Amino acid sequence: MIETKGYAVHEPGSDFSEFNFERRDVGPNDILIDILYAGICHSDIHQAKDEWHDSMPTTYPLVPGHEIVGRVVRVGDDVTKFAVGDLAGIGCFVDSCRECVNCKQGLQQFCFQRAVFTYNGVERDGVTRTYGGYSNNYVIDENYALKVRPADDLRGVAPLLCAGITTYSPLKRFGAGPGKKVGVVGLGGLGHMGVKIAKAMGAEVTIFSTSEGKAADAKALGADHFVVTKDPANLEPLAGTFNIILDTVSADHDINPYLGLLGVGGSMVVVGVPEKPNTVHSLSLIFGNKTLAGSLIGGIPETQEMLDFCADHNITADVEMIDPSRLPEAYDRTVKADVRYRFVIDMQNA
Ligand SMILES: [Zn+2]
Ligand SMILES: [Zn+2]
Repeated sequence: MIETKGYAVHEPGSDFSEFNFERRDVGPNDILIDILYAGICHSDIHQAKDEWHDSMPTTYPLVPGHEIVGRVVRVGDDVTKFAVGDLAGIGCFVDSCRECVNCKQGLQQFCFQRAVFTYNGVERDGVTRTYGGYSNNYVIDENYALKVRPADDLRGVAPLLCAGITTYSPLKRFGAGPGKKVGVVGLGGLGHMGVKIAKAMGAEVTIFSTSEGKAADAKALGADHFVVTKDPANLEPLAGTFNIILDTVSADHDINPYLGLLGVGGSMVVVGVPEKPNTVHSLSLIFGNKTLAGSLIGGIPETQEMLDFCADHNITADVEMIDPSRLPEAYDRTVKADVRYRFVIDMQNA
């Protein structure tokens, strides 16, 4: 077995403490990764606090982390994709059945037998619990690990594994590109990736935000327009003008005003998860042949495509680095949306 040092919460709301555990030995198709950086995703916080109890109850101790970049330090005998010394990434899941129709299409996140989540999951053996990237290493089947190119800023690559793919996949699916108008609702961890990626795809990008204070950031991130949504009058002149609206907001809000901004054939995609359901009148979709859609991360092939796209376009997340002792502060500030735009834990000296 492989000795691992991680940082775990032991009950809802408890602080992180050092937690030693074992990962499986490196099998013929596995690689062992020494973790360099792990991003803090809002879903880490929800699960640390067991806030998704009804759909995904948390089993403690919990070591979160599914935005992982590290270096390969050991490879199994049959591994072909990686060599020792390569960089590798791990996203939200680490295995799946490989046989169902969704797995066969490379949409492993929708595996009929449920993908094995990177943490708070159970391996395919049915007993081994998974622990995430707030730790110093990970053992993963090479087919579920991503190739990471050496970049100047590997710290900013880690958040691509969740925030990057969450925004890339729907932008690609709904055709963001030259001549297309894309709106991004919310300028947080997801929103700031959405802007960078949509711009790199060639679209004209507008950010919708409740905070006036983010105008300068929006511009720095490359957005063409910034709209403060507190005043509904700001939205009126934009009615019927957007091809795609990517809604990244997880706070309760009404999506109907945004549906009104879509042009004929336009699509609105939600990736945030507000607590309260939204009510949409069918006519809001019928008039204008509009689509209201959702999107969940991406499969392995598309996640690799996204990493390659970001490397080609020099896209990384804007990050604030912390060491594990600052996890409580980082959690508090992430909940308050007081981070520009993702916390990343430096695991090298942890
Ligand atoms: Zn995530
Ligand atoms: Zn499957």
